[in-house]
Amino acid sequence: MIKLSSPSLGIDEYRAVERVLRSGQLVHGEECELFEQELARYLDCKEVIIVSSGTAALHLALVALGIGVGDAVLVPDFTFPATVNVVELVGARPILVDVDLHTYNITPENIQAAIDNWQGTEKVKAIMPVHEFGCPANMTEIMTIAKKHNLLVIEDAACGLGATHQGKKVGTFGQAGCFSFHPRKAITTGEGGAIVTNDAELAAKLRIWRNHGMRKAEQGIEFVLPGFNYRLTNFQAAMGRAQLVKFDGWLQVRSKLQQLYRQELAKTELLLPNELVGHAWQTFMVVLPQHVERSSVIARLKEMGIEASLGAQAVHCQPYYQQKYSEMCRMHQKNNAERLYIHGLALPHCQDYSIRDIQFVSQKIREILK
Ligand SMILES: *Cc1c(COP(=O)(O)O)cnc(C)c1O
Repeated sequence: MIKLSSPSLGIDEYRAVERVLRSGQLVHGEECELFEQELARYLDCKEVIIVSSGTAALHLALVALGIGVGDAVLVPDFTFPATVNVVELVGARPILVDVDLHTYNITPENIQAAIDNWQGTEKVKAIMPVHEFGCPANMTEIMTIAKKHNLLVIEDAACGLGATHQGKKVGTFGQAGCFSFHPRKAITTGEGGAIVTNDAELAAKLRIWRNHGMRKAEQGIEFVLPGFNYRLTNFQAAMGRAQLVKFDGWLQVRSKLQQLYRQELAKTELLLPNELVGHAWQTFMVVLPQHVERSSVIARLKEMGIEASLGAQAVHCQPYYQQKYSEMCRMHQKNNAERLYIHGLALPHCQDYSIRDIQFVSQKIREILK
């Protein structure tokens, strides 16, 4: 079976995890600090706070930035819904923004229109751009809009490790950027995530929120906030460190393989994603013609030993959001996000696949579409 993707784990990761297990220090130690420093160097930013998942990173960022009841947050309609769930969790109001059909990202035009058209009682407080599947969102223009309207920017870079916009790593443009180290993402620690920021004061707050709201005091510890336990373990951090040193090589392979897909699928009816400079290609998703039923394509690929699946969700199609925000969800009916949700097809894509694997998958897709 050619799986959608599988984490690249080998002797380096086994040794790293074993080293920590043998040390007996499982949480809160040197490995975590080193992983944070190495990520900061890789991303060229001041502060990295590693946490237990990408969702924890997003949640913590919103809490520490003081976003909550009475605030509205602009989020893409097409994403893994964790982006929007955290807005709900802090009691804020999500405003869904449609995405571009070729980058799958929110556009500055749609963000501006959503701000201009907002008539709710909540105050628009923040934008959460997602770098969907590793495609860098247009952060230059998004930051310009944010400045103009005095909005915070929290980048959901869960899929975006290694992606760049105009030479700068995504996740480092806004007040905070959030990454995920889930096995489906660029590098993995099992579960895991990170918040990055250039704001030292915010970083200090995030560290306290991450660790039960605890702070070192003259005598022992004291609790200054009602915090979470969103820490990562040392053996996970060690695994992440082992992966990070190999990551730039993986990025190059992933980019080559997507180019091959592009050549192999050029003459089909498929809509292919834009080949943006700085794309990290965490996922390679194509869009099927509207007359083709995706479930039958997925079933036929499975018979041929190939795993494929939907790419991400349209938030306005999910029951929780439809029930709570029926009017907003109706407004978004049949938009680009919905088309990508219904017709998007994520194909096997991973640094461990060969040219022959990609040619095989492409050939089978061409056969099915004929
Ligand atoms: C994966 C993902 C998340 C959630 O990350 P976890 O580590 O699984 O919690 C959030 N947002 C986006 C866009 C993602 O792709």
